[in-house]
Amino acid sequence: MLSELGEEARVLAGGQSLIPLMKLRFANPQHLVDLNFVPRISYVKEQDGALRFGALTRHADIEYSKKAAKVPIIHDCAAGIADVQVRNRGTIGGSIAEADPSGDWATVLMTLDTTVRCIGPAGERVVPLSGFITDAYTTVLVKDELVSEVLVRVPPKGSGGAYIAFKRTAPVYPTASAAVQLTMEGDTCTEAAIAMGCVGLTPIKPAEAETALRGQQVSEAAINRAVEAARAAADPQPDMRGSVEYKRFLAGSLVKRAIEIALRRAKGERVQGGHLYA
Ligand SMILES: Cc1cc2nc3c(=O)[nH]c(=O)nc-3n(C[C@H](O)[C@H](O)[C@H](O)COP(=O)(O)OP(=O)(O)OC[C@H]3O[C@@H](n4cnc5c(N)ncnc54)[C@H](O)[C@@H]3O)c2cc1C
Repeated sequence: MLSELGEEARVLAGGQSLIPLMKLRFANPQHLVDLNFVPRISYVKEQDGALRFGALTRHADIEYSKKAAKVPIIHDCAAGIADVQVRNRGTIGGSIAEADPSGDWATVLMTLDTTVRCIGPAGERVVPLSGFITDAYTTVLVKDELVSEVLVRVPPKGSGGAYIAFKRTAPVYPTASAAVQLTMEGDTCTEAAIAMGCVGLTPIKPAEAETALRGQQVSEAAINRAVEAARAAADPQPDMRGSVEYKRFLAGSLVKRAIEIALRRAKGERVQGGHLYA
């Protein structure tokens, strides 16, 4: 249908980004191709050490999925997006395809081994998430191509992750957010992935902050080095949610809290993560 209808057609998933844009007249598609009529594209499966999310899987389905709960950072994300109404309609595929710089999913999934399965008239391809989002609201998807599935490798034993997003109320996007995923062997961090949301045009991966933890005993000093490197890497825009300085400082503080929870979860503790309200 997308091929037949041409440039003026847009895919509709949960409508939680597209419909508000249409109401504001920022988007004015002549045709909507509704994915909700396509069977078997909403699921959470565990297969060969990976979690597989069908493109139309709602945030709420992931929030309540026992399989997805095995990776706590995924539950942190799904359970905190906006409010119940948005979570009941919005989808993981739509969120990734929208590539909103304030969206939660891309930031969280950047700290995991995530790939995106894309399908179109030319066939199928699997793209690492790190190369899928190229700019604000921009992905590698070509005309007629859809996200069909999001695949996440389950982290190894000894891993822990946490996502913390700071927002003013439930139905608004975060002011800043931080996702941290660590793999520990005793007190030594063998793998560290950090991503920050809402402080750049795409999720920001502060490489120096990751290096401050990777291969190190995770001491207070190492955490502080990671926090400072994360603050330096943040590139926020000033808006009604805060100034550049405020958001940069906030992002670092969220990284610190996320590291602390990730460390405790790596040891098997059950700790609350997710969204913080001002
Ligand atoms: C009040 C409110 C608050 C919100 N707050 C947050 C928040 O705090 N955090 C957050 O992450 N999100 C938030 N959202 C957005 C929400 O999470 C959306 O669900 C998400 O952006 C994806 O939207 P959707 O699945 O409804 O897709 P749609 O709105 O239907 O589509 C979004 C875009 O993606 C395209 N698309 C959809 N599915 C596919 C696909 N499978 N393949 C290719 N292209 C596709 C569409 O054509 C469209 O361009 C909020 C939304 C609202 C209304």
